[in-house]
Amino acid sequence: MRLSSYFLPTLKEDPAEAQIVSHRLMLRAGLVRQASAGIYSWLPLGLRVLRKVEQIVREEQDAAGAQELLMPTIQAAELWQESGRYDGYGKEMLRVIDRHDREMLYGPTNEELVTDIFRQTIRSYKDLPKILYHTQWKFRDEVRPRFGVMRGREFLMKDAYSFDLDYESARRSYNRMFVSYLRTFARMGLQAIPMQADTGPIGGDLSHEFIILADTGESEVYCHKDYLTYDALSEVSNDDNDLASAVEKWTSLYAATDEKHDPAQAAELGESLISARGIEVGHIFYFGTKYSQAMGATVTGPDGEELFPEMGSYGIGVSRLVGAIIEAYHDDDGIKWPDSIAPFSVGVINLRVGDADCDNACTDIVNKLEATGQDVLYDDRDERAGAKFATMDLIGLPWQVVVGPRGLKNGVIELKRRATGDREELSIESALSKLMG
Ligand code: ATP
Ligand code: MG
Repeated sequence: MRLSSYFLPTLKEDPAEAQIVSHRLMLRAGLVRQASAGIYSWLPLGLRVLRKVEQIVREEQDAAGAQELLMPTIQAAELWQESGRYDGYGKEMLRVIDRHDREMLYGPTNEELVTDIFRQTIRSYKDLPKILYHTQWKFRDEVRPRFGVMRGREFLMKDAYSFDLDYESARRSYNRMFVSYLRTFARMGLQAIPMQADTGPIGGDLSHEFIILADTGESEVYCHKDYLTYDALSEVSNDDNDLASAVEKWTSLYAATDEKHDPAQAAELGESLISARGIEVGHIFYFGTKYSQAMGATVTGPDGEELFPEMGSYGIGVSRLVGAIIEAYHDDDGIKWPDSIAPFSVGVINLRVGDADCDNACTDIVNKLEATGQDVLYDDRDERAGAKFATMDLIGLPWQVVVGPRGLKNGVIELKRRATGDREELSIESALSKLMG
């Protein structure tokens, strides 16, 4: 992609409305623009990141045995009247009237809709267990939308729903999702800490929030410091016993949100206890037969009896994660994307556009990288070097290749790693093999 024609509206100055660094950088780096309060348009660079996050989530959901479908954003009020949540959800729910005066709503979550699909299609215990998921826009009319995409009104969520015959089986689904969440966040370079949580309006009795630590997080959290260096995942297979002991291990250390924190435990942990700000990036619930009973979703059991399946739901804030990752990976100059979710893997900077040697070297590098499947952003603009460096640092691509006339005379270009700031002069061939390796 050539930057001269790419739609990348960057800002030099910090936008006044942005209070936290990820919001500032998302606006400055041309990732999003606000459409109205808490509602954002995703511009090409931001959309690339959003899609990468979504894809990692998808791969890990698939690997955990969940199956993807796509439910609509607009739902009928009747379903929510059946579950009893229509009135209780209050002002957070955006309610809509269609031309036939039917009450509709923009879905804030999908327990009702997925239970409706289930009861129309699944009849026998032999069809269980099932985990269904989608990644879809949600709307919640938050009292205080703020911090850009971190607390929006419209936001992208992956939500999965599990259906099992009994508690033991439901617990296996829960464990599966629990570990898949840790894997998902780890692939994005995030250390997520599971905290036992209240189930809130979803109801039920087992729930964990996944929190990543960042100074600007909305909640105060307390946890054992070992969480920060934990790597219990590499060894865990998808065997149910393995998953259960991984969950056991991950929940055995102390972790609590502000409301749940028990100062006595703290005192006991001494120096091992850390308190920090955290961002909730995922939340999982086991809630038993709450929805299956309310909505009359049953399956025929082994002895012909009608049984209510045990359910759970599992959310990940896909659009919130884009902001959360920036909170974790940035410096004064801009974003430092982890490789796995970078919008382009390499930025090529041509320091003298119009100089035949520079132009040829750059197109050669770009073509070779693209031929091996790399996404490359080529800064071919007629701009000062300083402006080009600033843009590249701001948008945070993991690698920068700097091509200038002086270097080329000596047969070298400069390769910069954005995360560390390390630079080295290399021949084009060695730079390419390093980038492709
Ligand atoms: P919060 O406590 O942050 O308000 P929640 O508990 O209401 O979130 P859930 O229903 O658990 O949210 O939704 C699952 C995930 O969706 C959350 O873990 C979060 O990552 C994301 N999410 C929830 N609300 C928003 C929002 N307003 N903007 C962006 N992401 C959100
Ligand atoms: Mg939550």
